[in-house]
Amino acid sequence: MIHISDVNNYLQCKHLYLKTLSSDKPKFQQFIHMDETLSLIGTRKLGIKEAFFGQRGDPNEAAFAAMKEFEWLIKARFEYMELRVKIPFMHHNGKAWDIYFIRNELFPKEDNLMYMTDTLWVLRQLGITLGAIYILHFNSTYQRQGDLDYDQLLTISEYLYNQNNHPSVHLTDAVTARTRDLTKIIEHMRTLNRESLPPVKREKKCSGRFQCRFYTECFPEEQNVPDNSILHLLGCEYKHQMFNDGKLYLRDSDLDLIEGTRQQYAQIMADRNNGLFVDKMNLKLWLNDHLTFPLSFLDFEWDRYGIPPYDQMKPFDVLLFQYSLHVYDHELRHREFIGLEDCRRELLESLLNDLPPSGSVIVFNASGGEEIRLRELQVIYPEYSAQIDDIISRMVDFSIPFNLGMVYHLKMRGSYSLKRIVEVIDDKLSYHNLDIPQALDAVDGWRKLSKSISDEEEKKLIADLLAYCAMDTYSLYLIYRWFMELCQMEVN
Ligand code: SF4
Repeated sequence: MIHISDVNNYLQCKHLYLKTLSSDKPKFQQFIHMDETLSLIGTRKLGIKEAFFGQRGDPNEAAFAAMKEFEWLIKARFEYMELRVKIPFMHHNGKAWDIYFIRNELFPKEDNLMYMTDTLWVLRQLGITLGAIYILHFNSTYQRQGDLDYDQLLTISEYLYNQNNHPSVHLTDAVTARTRDLTKIIEHMRTLNRESLPPVKREKKCSGRFQCRFYTECFPEEQNVPDNSILHLLGCEYKHQMFNDGKLYLRDSDLDLIEGTRQQYAQIMADRNNGLFVDKMNLKLWLNDHLTFPLSFLDFEWDRYGIPPYDQMKPFDVLLFQYSLHVYDHELRHREFIGLEDCRRELLESLLNDLPPSGSVIVFNASGGEEIRLRELQVIYPEYSAQIDDIISRMVDFSIPFNLGMVYHLKMRGSYSLKRIVEVIDDKLSYHNLDIPQALDAVDGWRKLSKSISDEEEKKLIADLLAYCAMDTYSLYLIYRWFMELCQMEVN
């Protein structure tokens, strides 16, 4: 039995297809907090009162029998040439079957089209007459007030969307126009074996926007490269070509084959300079221009909800649940907050109380995190607007000196993450020693707190979450000290 995902894997890379078949499924990480299933909210949106519910393992006969008896089918299973598909919602309109796909997104993009087209190819092969094709997705304009309005929560669209979130592909027309015959593909998939394949070859698909999960398996020789390997060169299209040509180290980079970014310059100079590059003059100027005492090192943790759980939240809004704050003014002190359920106001008021009224507020990647989160709170609590503006105006982003190529250490191995940087500064201080070592685990931990767990478990989870977030702000403090040391400036 195969699924559409197998067909996609096969078309993307034959090795990927075979490796996926022979390996365990990766652990599912739920990035979006969903308190109800898509099927359930879709059923409410469509106003379905009576329906056939398909089950895993159902033969075609089960769905065909249901098609005679029911107007609506939910999650019906169909199979053709061992290709098995699940149809989220089917509705008989008197003449044909209308299909409703459902996506956990605000604006499902055009790249969903082939999945839908191939899914419906199975139905066509089985002789099912199709009507209109729709997609259900979350409604970006819905804001919760009081009880959840299931009708407003989802939108029924005839279109997929382009990158600007404008309706661009009419589903019913496009599915018909793009239908492809999968017969030959499936036949070849059945007979494919590893021995018949050429050796793996690194291509864009291996490490494009997302790295393939089998990358380390396919290219093990890259895993143990030294810290100064040319393979760590950031944003370089030709690094593998140089590597294959015997230019193994950063210092060997062919200047005609690099893009010449500041980060690349810093990396190459670090290799030529015994491991560390510091643009001392610019770093010093930057620190002098941006830092004002007292220094407040700030970090937030949050969860993102598909279904807005509280008033004034929209689908996919985030809920801020924790902060850590280290304040340095000749001595270091720590403040923190963690809340359960809807703690937005409490968190904001606690933060306003804990933050010194002046001085720099130091964060890491502010524009992707802390600043956005504060702007969201500003909309909900306009009475605190001026204080929030003030905090944002004092924000200093410690990722900037790294992104501008002012500092690079070979041990960073091409990564500018806070975790990697702090391990360079102090190799005994590692996130790996924490019970919650990364942000997604923190979100998982916080979600568990809203479930029924023992007092002891709750205490331990809260302690782990506090330790994780505190590590982030302590790391920012260590980076401050490192910058000062690199510039031979005195720590106040
Ligand atoms: S790393 Fe590349 S060659 Fe290997 S399975 Fe993935 S896509 Fe295929």
